[in-house]
Amino acid sequence: MPIVLQNLSYTYQPGTPYESPALHDVNLTIKSGQFVGLIGHTGSGKSTLIQHCNGLLFPMAGQAMVDNMAILPKSKDLKEIRRKVGLVFQYPEHQLFEETVALDIAFGPKTLGLDQGEIQRRVRWAMKMVDLDYEKFKELSPFGLSGGEKRRVAIAGVLAMQPKYLILDEPCAGLDPKGREEILYQLKRLNEKGLAIILVSHSMDDVARLAQRLVVIHQGHIVYDDAVRQVFGKAKELEAMGLDVPEVMKLMMRLKEKGLAVHQDVLTIEEGQDEILRVLGHA
Ligand code: ADP
Ligand code: MG
Repeated sequence: MPIVLQNLSYTYQPGTPYESPALHDVNLTIKSGQFVGLIGHTGSGKSTLIQHCNGLLFPMAGQAMVDNMAILPKSKDLKEIRRKVGLVFQYPEHQLFEETVALDIAFGPKTLGLDQGEIQRRVRWAMKMVDLDYEKFKELSPFGLSGGEKRRVAIAGVLAMQPKYLILDEPCAGLDPKGREEILYQLKRLNEKGLAIILVSHSMDDVARLAQRLVVIHQGHIVYDDAVRQVFGKAKELEAMGLDVPEVMKLMMRLKEKGLAVHQDVLTIEEGQDEILRVLGHA
């Protein structure tokens, strides 16, 4: 059973001089186990959209559902919805506040009324999922960690709720290449274990490599929702929306312009390499 947004619209501060329409008639279904990339220019509505998936915002028109539970302000299911749909905000490290890493990650599970043993098991498991060594990190203050480590603590805190869907709003923003790679690798692994992932990203390279499906949002409208390769086939249309295609795809377009008979629909460095070798007759 999926997350379903149906004819969903949302406006910030309606009826005031600051009224700001953010989503228009959005239809989106996220099935369990999928890895979906969500891209769009700054201000296009990405953060607004994902906050509708776990009841932080409520639709002004249309509806939002998670596994057949309607997301409504007074629903008795809201707690369960927010547990099922884990949301990692932008710069989630700003929300770390406990004295130790282990206490911070345990914060969510404690609200579920689990016993001590189960809470501890979940903390260990969540730390393992983000490659933080339990013995080494459990007693450390989150504030002394590196940027990438802090962010992994924040992600572990959401994972410890054992969500079915994990939504991340630009989880790699501001990290160095090593920190980025670690997080992306862990997301891939989590998805392989069956967790559905919705990745909001500015990096076309990252979504090309990881996502199966790409949703493109422009001025509050979903304009594409298709297999990654199909969406990046629309390079011109994406450019008009201020969006890009993966670097390797740009390279292939340049090579084609220069007369090399390569296919353009190349998403990863490995595919690019194979394609160039093929055309040069070395494959
Ligand atoms: P994105 O995450 O794609 O950058 P947002 O969902 O944050 O986009 O924003 C969508 C639109 O809603 C933008 O026009 C933005 O200015 C507006 N908006 C976002 N948050 C607020 C808010 N708290 N109050 C008023 N307008 C907002
Ligand atoms: Mg945003």
